[in-house]
Amino acid sequence: MNPFQKGFLEGIIPPPPMTVSEWSDKHRRLSSKGSSEPGPWRTSRTPYLKEPMDCLSVTNTDVERVVLMFGAQTGKSESGINFLLYTIDHCPAPILCVAASLDMVKRMSRQRLEPAFEETPVIKAKIAPQRSRDASNSMFIKEFPNGILLLTGSNSPAGLRSAPVRYLFLDEIDSYPSDASTSGGVSEGDPVELAIKRTSTFSRKKILMTSTPTLKEFSRVENEYLTSDRRKYWVPAPCCGKYQLLTWSQMKWENRDASTAKYECSHCGERFDESHKTSMLRQGEWRAEKPMTRKTAGFQMSSLYSPAGWLSWPEIVEEFLRSKDDAPLFKTWVNTRMAETFDESYQSQLSAEEMLEKCEKYLPGTIPDEVVALVQGVDIQGGGGTKDERIEVSTWGVGLEEHMYLIQHDVIYGDPHQGTVWEGLDVLLTAEWEHPNGGRLKVECTAIDTGGLATNSVYNYCRARKGSGVIGIKGSSQSGQPAIGRGSKVDLNYRGKPIKGGVVVYSVGTDTIKDVLYSRLKFNNKLHFHAQTTEEYFKQFTGERKVLKKSGRGTQYVQKKNQNVEALDTAVYAYAALNHLYQRFPRGKFFQIFANKLLNSVNSSKKQRLKSNSKVTKKSYVTHW
Ligand SMILES: [Zn+2]
Repeated sequence: MNPFQKGFLEGIIPPPPMTVSEWSDKHRRLSSKGSSEPGPWRTSRTPYLKEPMDCLSVTNTDVERVVLMFGAQTGKSESGINFLLYTIDHCPAPILCVAASLDMVKRMSRQRLEPAFEETPVIKAKIAPQRSRDASNSMFIKEFPNGILLLTGSNSPAGLRSAPVRYLFLDEIDSYPSDASTSGGVSEGDPVELAIKRTSTFSRKKILMTSTPTLKEFSRVENEYLTSDRRKYWVPAPCCGKYQLLTWSQMKWENRDASTAKYECSHCGERFDESHKTSMLRQGEWRAEKPMTRKTAGFQMSSLYSPAGWLSWPEIVEEFLRSKDDAPLFKTWVNTRMAETFDESYQSQLSAEEMLEKCEKYLPGTIPDEVVALVQGVDIQGGGGTKDERIEVSTWGVGLEEHMYLIQHDVIYGDPHQGTVWEGLDVLLTAEWEHPNGGRLKVECTAIDTGGLATNSVYNYCRARKGSGVIGIKGSSQSGQPAIGRGSKVDLNYRGKPIKGGVVVYSVGTDTIKDVLYSRLKFNNKLHFHAQTTEEYFKQFTGERKVLKKSGRGTQYVQKKNQNVEALDTAVYAYAALNHLYQRFPRGKFFQIFANKLLNSVNSSKKQRLKSNSKVTKKSYVTHW
């Protein structure tokens, strides 16, 4: 065949169809700008990407949607770029690529796409170099023979309503807003649905969705994954050759030393280090948990699979040790390293029976060694003349690093407009608890809910006990509120001006505090319950769950059906009381200040011990849990 014939034939005979991985191995080059390993792309470096990429090939007609729920440092973004470049070169058509926001699009375009175009010769030849006024190649539009690549943000309804497209790449879908509308309050609808509508006129379309997951129940990528065929990557262990999934529970290390991290085979129990990872990944295979429906192939993979030299097991363990006690950091670790959603509503999964196992050895009404201060939360039920009127009081001890100990929970029955219930509260307010190391503790701050039907009676009580650590509070379920806000004066004179020395009511971020309490319940043992804590108490403590707001923006706590939640509310108020104390005794010094105070009272009580030996007395109408 002479060169003329060859060139002529190339023009009329379509090239044999390739898969995305074949194309990438042949043409794709990684730029030194965006990659730590510049040079030719090698699928063998991340062998687990071959199957998801090949589902996006024109040769695969079984799959229309590919969902990647991956951890960081696994190459998921590069596989998305391979998909875009492959379509530009190999099967040109209109393509839409969506990032979370227009700013993210700019970054993606500059830092990832343009270097990829530049480094990959077959693509560079097809896309005109970017000139400032060239409409065919801008930050948001890239034209090429027989197609166009449009880039937009999920917050841009106009961009999402662009022309029909055959190929769609939705990057980091868990960071999209629930509504594409950016301003004016007009609902534009779900950005993912808007974008997918663009593909409706095409047959043989391909849709790629990728993300690290976020919150349980609200994670788009998890919802997509759960409706897919749910593939997971199985690898053979070096010890016995048995195939297994790499899971966090098999990761072992010694004495908080991340450098000792090893993987324990779930079959034979032998431990091995990362040096085996490369061969394990090479021999791995995706196995689906479900039959495929809706032509959707789903892939889930944690960063434990990250190739050698990217993110190591010791690094992941190190990050775990650093983040595990801090709810927001730990959430990020779970999302980006384990590629799992984070369940903030742990209480909805944990039954009261399971909670009973959390009971510790100390008895109600006694103070554990570790406690240096006491706070109380008070909830008012009734005030409208119904039966079962009562106030409920939880007394919590505070230890080092905000460990909290339920000392006792009391219910005082009676009409909150009458004096008797308040006398009962006085007993608890002024009680002294003996510390096992000697000395006595009194309640430092009592926070009482003013929100119910007995507001004025609460005001009266707070007014009369100003200066003895009693504060009025009002819950705000708005998200992002501080645990306790600034106080506002509620006692006004006849001109409507605040009265000096009147009652101050503090706003309390109830959802903020519930996040704190529930994450502590789940991830570290910072909440302690006495030996006789009842199932009913735990039912109430776990009686709320987080749901998506009606507006679709953000989440909020709601009570489970027919479930009282006084145990939870009083704990929330007690935590607000503790945060109120931080205004006078800074959080960082709190433990030391009160430990010193206790020590002083030990010394003085030694002198007093001979004089009085009276114990805390309670009136008979105080029911004790
Ligand atoms: Zn083994």
